[in-house]
Amino acid sequence: MSIQWFPGHMNVTRKAIAERVPEIDVVIELLDARLPGSSANPLLAELTRGKPSLKVLNKQDLADAERTRLWLAHYQAQPGTNALALDASEPAPARRLIDASRVLAPLRGGMVKPMRVLICGIPNVGKSTLMNSMVGQRSAKTGDEPGITKVEQKILLASDFYLFDTPGMLWPRISVIEAGYHLAASGAIGRNAYDEEDVALELLARVRGPYRNRLEARYKLAGLKGLEALTDSELLELIGRKRGGLMPGGIVNRQKAAEIILHDFRSGAWGRITLETPDEYALWQAAGEQR
Ligand code: GDP
Repeated sequence: MSIQWFPGHMNVTRKAIAERVPEIDVVIELLDARLPGSSANPLLAELTRGKPSLKVLNKQDLADAERTRLWLAHYQAQPGTNALALDASEPAPARRLIDASRVLAPLRGGMVKPMRVLICGIPNVGKSTLMNSMVGQRSAKTGDEPGITKVEQKILLASDFYLFDTPGMLWPRISVIEAGYHLAASGAIGRNAYDEEDVALELLARVRGPYRNRLEARYKLAGLKGLEALTDSELLELIGRKRGGLMPGGIVNRQKAAEIILHDFRSGAWGRITLETPDEYALWQAAGEQR
């Protein structure tokens, strides 16, 4: 089963971005560093084709540093593209965005030709948090539920550097089955659009290989015999059992176990984890195109 989510049409956003793009020098796309491929919006790529692009892997504090390096190299190898990793603890995010944008558009800058940059990202990627920290005041709303940010604004990051916020909502577009699960696991899509157990099972399937030791440490599974032979479903039950998700009669409350798993991933309790590598994502995309 795949996740279907159509939170709203993006016609208004599409039109507004298309209108703004001609006067923009660099497009910044904020991505979730735990799921860079899945958190990219293909519509944005389509609308901004040919424009210099700065990929910002945000929430890097939650992501696997080694995989973040792979993603940065992947983007930097693309023509007209630069990339950097960021998180909310960054003391001078504006400086880094300015420097990385200037590399992409060296002929822009100065009072005569100020740099104009458009910042975009799907909900929950941390755009309001970043904008707030750059504005230095709470002028944009932040929240845990995707879809809250709607304030449109223009920020003067330097005397010759304008940052425009995306006009409208850039909803995620689920073009790859795995991306749907990753977006759901990260909290980027509405809670009513998916079954938590399905998403938790998919998440376990993804992390139990590369991050097995994290699960073992978190749920005290180390040394358990036959752990590898467990199905994802049995692993979910084992975690539920370990974390007290039991119903009368000793039956595991699978819903509760799924909620614990999703909560632990989202909060970073498993440590720094990235759900996809550039190579994996490319394979999923290719498989999706054949379907
Ligand atoms: P927006 O919808 O893109 O504007 O996202 P928000 O700025 O509202 O952030 C969504 C959630 O992610 C909030 O709970 C933020 O506190 C959290 N968040 C934002 N940036 C970071 C970051 O760099 N690291 C971590 N760990 N959490 C972040």
